[in-house]
Amino acid sequence: MLRRSPHGVFALVAPIAKNGRLALADAIGQPRAVASPGGKPVSRRARPSEPPSERFEEYPPAPLSNRLSDAPSARPPFPSDPEPSTAPGRRDAHRDSYLAIRQVAKPEDLRVVFQPIIDLWNGRLFAYEALVRCRHSSPPELFERAHAAGCVGRLGRMVREIAVPLSAGRPIFLNVHPGELNEPWLVRPDDPMFFHDHDVFLEITESVPLLHFDRCIQVLRELRVRGGVHLVVDDLGAGYSNLKSIADLEPRVVKLDRGLIAGIHQNRRQERLVSGVIRICHDLGATVVAEGIEVHAEYQVLRDAGAHLGQGYLFARPGFPMPAVTWPPEAGKDAVA
Ligand code: C2E
Ligand code: MG
Ligand code: MG
Repeated sequence: MLRRSPHGVFALVAPIAKNGRLALADAIGQPRAVASPGGKPVSRRARPSEPPSERFEEYPPAPLSNRLSDAPSARPPFPSDPEPSTAPGRRDAHRDSYLAIRQVAKPEDLRVVFQPIIDLWNGRLFAYEALVRCRHSSPPELFERAHAAGCVGRLGRMVREIAVPLSAGRPIFLNVHPGELNEPWLVRPDDPMFFHDHDVFLEITESVPLLHFDRCIQVLRELRVRGGVHLVVDDLGAGYSNLKSIADLEPRVVKLDRGLIAGIHQNRRQERLVSGVIRICHDLGATVVAEGIEVHAEYQVLRDAGAHLGQGYLFARPGFPMPAVTWPPEAGKDAVA
């Protein structure tokens, strides 16, 4: 599939086999080919066999600002302000969300930080997750307020306008509030995620209910087909999560909530439960990320239980510029929560 990048080149998105963790690792290791002016694909990244540090040096230097106003895609007078629809109902909804977002968060209040997701076996950087920061509220509060005010789609778009350009040349995980699936923003063809030059993983949280399930599935399928976007079930084991969603949503990645991870080294039943969940995820073709690893002993148990990827304070806290990974994590130097 050919995709146009912001630089005017076309990215050739390699098809990805659906067979679990190795397939996904391979997919990430395979560079996207970019059509050169002569039409011959050229490789943009090093091969996966090279050591991580060498691979990582090939990534471009990260930009210095994580403010929306400095994002290359932002444009005055207000970012994320697409051409209003001419249909009367849509026009009103557009204006309403434009007014509502100003009550929820001003563009200058928003920042994005990044946390690495790493391969638990060799410490190789897999991707970064983008996490919003707002001067006045925690990320969940911010998104809930936006949802209540009818502008959650616009807020998500604003976050992507900051996060995606900052992640140029790297795979990125982006959080999507389930409410965004009921708004037209996510599927707009001019969304920054469709122009990203590396893999995009969209995280749908399991901590709030997925309303209008059929419509959501339809939107997610469209995103997958249209943008070569990978789907991630976030926070499995928290809130409204249920294992059936892995069968229904067919995610490429499942992130286990910290609730399942914390203290796993001290609880044999928890360890068995998590091992079983990891096996099910693998059987269904999904790679597992263990979230919120803070303690060296948790990391060891999760790696031995078969979790392929991990994320947590033990390796790096979210930050900007993109934080480096502490590897190997030393026993006794556990993160203080
Ligand atoms: P999440 O997507 O599950 O993100 C992981 C959260 O766990 C982040 O909190 C991260 O800072 C925190 N975390 C990472 N490692 C550790 C650890 O070792 N220990 C502990 N205790 N926590 C750890 P954060 O950034 O406060 O975000 C909270 C939630 O807010 C996110 O959970 C996500 O559901 C939501 N969120 C954040 N950014 C966005 C966004 O841009 N869009 C949407 N829709 N939701 C977002
Ligand atoms: Mg997440
Ligand atoms: Mg999570």
